[in-house]
Amino acid sequence: MSNRCALVSKIIPFSCVDGPGSRLALFLQGCNLRCRNCHNPWTIGRCDHCGECVVHCPHEALTLQAGRVVWQESRCQQCDTCLQCCPQQATPMAQTLDEETVINHIAAAEPFIEGITISGGEATTQLPFVAALFRRVKQTPALRHLTCLIDSNGELGLSGWEKLHPVCDGVMVDLKAWGDEHHRWLTGRDNARIKASIRWLAQHQRLSELRLLVIPEHSDYLTSIEPLSAFIAALGDVPVRLNAFHAHGVYGEAKNWRSARPDDIQALADALQARGITRLIHPALYL
Ligand code: SF4
Ligand code: SF4
Repeated sequence: MSNRCALVSKIIPFSCVDGPGSRLALFLQGCNLRCRNCHNPWTIGRCDHCGECVVHCPHEALTLQAGRVVWQESRCQQCDTCLQCCPQQATPMAQTLDEETVINHIAAAEPFIEGITISGGEATTQLPFVAALFRRVKQTPALRHLTCLIDSNGELGLSGWEKLHPVCDGVMVDLKAWGDEHHRWLTGRDNARIKASIRWLAQHQRLSELRLLVIPEHSDYLTSIEPLSAFIAALGDVPVRLNAFHAHGVYGEAKNWRSARPDDIQALADALQARGITRLIHPALYL
């Protein structure tokens, strides 16, 4: 049996916001998009052990040992100072964990969860680990009832989805903008691969949720409502979650962007419903 490793930024044993029901959420480090609106910007990069954060840690939880930054969890006060000063949008608190260790976390949480969700960063940038972990969950009698979901930006190529298909129960994908140019401005890349992923996952009964993020004055959904609605309608009976942007936790210019209000969400919901897209999930709360 394999025992692959992953660079993990965080494990939340019981989450109610990372898919249906209570779930263990595993956040992998590293992303292949650079979204202006990212709420976890320190999960984007990978630590190059520059040492910048070591001198800034107010609780002496970080040291440089043989050219590598070492995080001492018992000293850490989770103040996030290191995240703010990292030039790589990384974290010194990310840990390399093997399958066995993660499986043990899942087994400990198992009585209280319905499944696991792998998020990020972008989960699929560590595809071999994700596939191996899901396979192991499916092969473990005490765990095989847990659903295995991925929270993804959709950048993975179709051959990657083919590899995951046998072991993954569903994928929640964000379509952050409709237009290629707008998507490139918002995330650094166009969205051709993302649209292809969404179509493929829907055709193969693995698209558990399509997500649209409403950013007032910075979303192009309403100006592209006809092609967007046609695209969603062609996916079949897929739930569409409307997420409301809020500036909490973001960095750079997005800190000054206005948070979405109920009326911003309702405007998009009305426009989609008028075009036959009715399986909409509204935000549970607005910040
Ligand atoms: S986490 Fe960031 S600041 Fe700290 S050592 Fe790594 S790259 Fe440098
Ligand atoms: S969050 Fe970072 S800066 Fe704060 S105590 Fe922990 S390691 Fe140090």
